[in-house]
Amino acid sequence: TDTLRIENLHVSVEGKQILRGVNLEIKKGETHALMGPNGSGKSTLGLVIMGHPKYEVTEGAIYFNGENITEREVDERARMGLFYAFQRPVAIPGVKLADFLRHASSNVRNPNRKEGEELIPMREFRKELKGKMEQLRMDPDFARRYVNDGFSGGEMKRAEILQLAMLQPKIAILDETDSGLDADAVRLASQSIAEIGREKMGLLIITHHDKLLEHNPPQFTHVILGGRIVETGGAELADELHTQGYDRIRRMYPDAA
Ligand code: ADP
Ligand code: MG
Ligand code: MG
Repeated sequence: TDTLRIENLHVSVEGKQILRGVNLEIKKGETHALMGPNGSGKSTLGLVIMGHPKYEVTEGAIYFNGENITEREVDERARMGLFYAFQRPVAIPGVKLADFLRHASSNVRNPNRKEGEELIPMREFRKELKGKMEQLRMDPDFARRYVNDGFSGGEMKRAEILQLAMLQPKIAILDETDSGLDADAVRLASQSIAEIGREKMGLLIITHHDKLLEHNPPQFTHVILGGRIVETGGAELADELHTQGYDRIRRMYPDAA
């Protein structure tokens, strides 16, 4: 079964140590919530799993299905079935969401595909895109817009969910968008993630919104503080942090922060 395993991961960025020994295992079908105060290292963990070149692994390793991928390129990881949705999604003016999805899906389906080589046939792709957009109750016009260009927070989230549905990654990391999502947008996102078929992927959801977890109760909740996972529990731990905040965690682990 598809497994992402992170072992004793230490990560620096611009000479500053951010992660200090993270251990984590995510398997297909599991939903994990990653929570922690601002600046604790949540996005760093997501970015380093995806292979962002700015983040240097100084100790430890990342394994996917037993293979050490710590030094792999971003593109290779994406083709293997890893997916990371940015906290601040990048706009790609001039590239329509549909074309972007056709390229990305072609690469995932044919991991050896080189730039310029054949894409998924247009008719086949269109049919699939239409089906997924209907399932997610999205307006077909949405796919004709340029990727994240002038998107509202809610639309970025919709685009991210459409990517999930089309690419069907093996492991997906969803970093909370920090452009304010209203309650309805969060609820819709939560429901859509559940509808896509959570059981077919391993999910790591980084969030402060309890509503995002509403339809996706985590089997595991991890609390990160000062670059270390200090506690792991079930859905009840996420509930506690959503209602009570991080005071207890900070008191219990004064050395971590
Ligand atoms: P979180 O997502 O939990 O809010 P981040 O992973 O974004 O936390 O950041 C953790 C720490 O690393 C913060 O102190 C942040 O300022 C620092 N950091 C993250 N990315 C960079 C970067 N590219 N350059 C410099 N510092 C960074
Ligand atoms: Mg942050
Ligand atoms: Mg973050």
